[in-house]
Amino acid sequence: MIVVSEIGKLKEIIQEWKQKGEIIGFCPTMGTLHAGHMDLVTQSKKQCSKTIVSIFVNPTQFNDPKDFASYPINTDSDLQYCQEQGVDLVFLPSVEVMYPKSLTPIQMSIPSLQSNLCGRTRPGHFEGVLQVVSKLFHLTEPHFAFFGLKDYQQFRVISALVMELNFPLQVIGVPTKREQDGLAMSSRNLRLTPKDRETATLIPRMFQLAKKTLVGGEKNINTWKEILTEFLLTGINLKIDYLEVVDPLTLQPVTNLSGDILLATAVFVGEVRLIDNEILTCPN
Ligand code: AMP
Repeated sequence: MIVVSEIGKLKEIIQEWKQKGEIIGFCPTMGTLHAGHMDLVTQSKKQCSKTIVSIFVNPTQFNDPKDFASYPINTDSDLQYCQEQGVDLVFLPSVEVMYPKSLTPIQMSIPSLQSNLCGRTRPGHFEGVLQVVSKLFHLTEPHFAFFGLKDYQQFRVISALVMELNFPLQVIGVPTKREQDGLAMSSRNLRLTPKDRETATLIPRMFQLAKKTLVGGEKNINTWKEILTEFLLTGINLKIDYLEVVDPLTLQPVTNLSGDILLATAVFVGEVRLIDNEILTCPN
């Protein structure tokens, strides 16, 4: 496995691979890797002859400096995990390499996809994501890029970026990997105290309740949201950042429980912000 921190060296390797006709798969991450990240790698290895993982905690996508400062970093174990999983190259740039002081910062946004969910409650987040992912796409020149559906809004925003700006690559969404009790795997789970970890199980249980009440005949979206909100709020130390029901494609709010809908939530358990979502099909 090759580990590269400099852009020049990375470009050299990419050119070599391209000349040999390799198919490049790219999995961008912020590290502290878990089995959810590795599902992206597994998918890439199935579809591509070379797999790149980037590990970079991107400061421009954190709207809260405290959140950035406390984001976990575990580079040694990440590199070992990547090696074990057969990753071909890890790109591990520093902040200075990604954002040299000499550059003039650029701001990108896709307003209609950012007006709800995390885009609404984390102003500036998707501007940072679009900036870093665009740079990483240019640097790694992948044929396929793999993104987790756990971050569904991110997946939609990146898919739109690729379409709108004609990036020559295909974005692949990978299903959410969950712990045994249903909690979506996340690097942030490590920061939960044992008590808060237990409280966090309310999130997957809320999605179970959502499905049960839909099948049970609930037709009123406001009543449905109230039931789900009340359920989440039984958690001690839990605050809801948002609980929204939107169209899976446009990410605009829906007013009826019909067809396919995206139920998405972000909650703070203690200081830790956790997100989850599911696309649900409403019974006729
Ligand atoms: P992160 O390191 O949290 O920025 O995540 C890097 C990539 O891994 C993103 O595309 C995430 O959506 C994806 N990812 C994170 N957690 C999971 C999970 N539990 N299941 C599937 N993909 C995930």
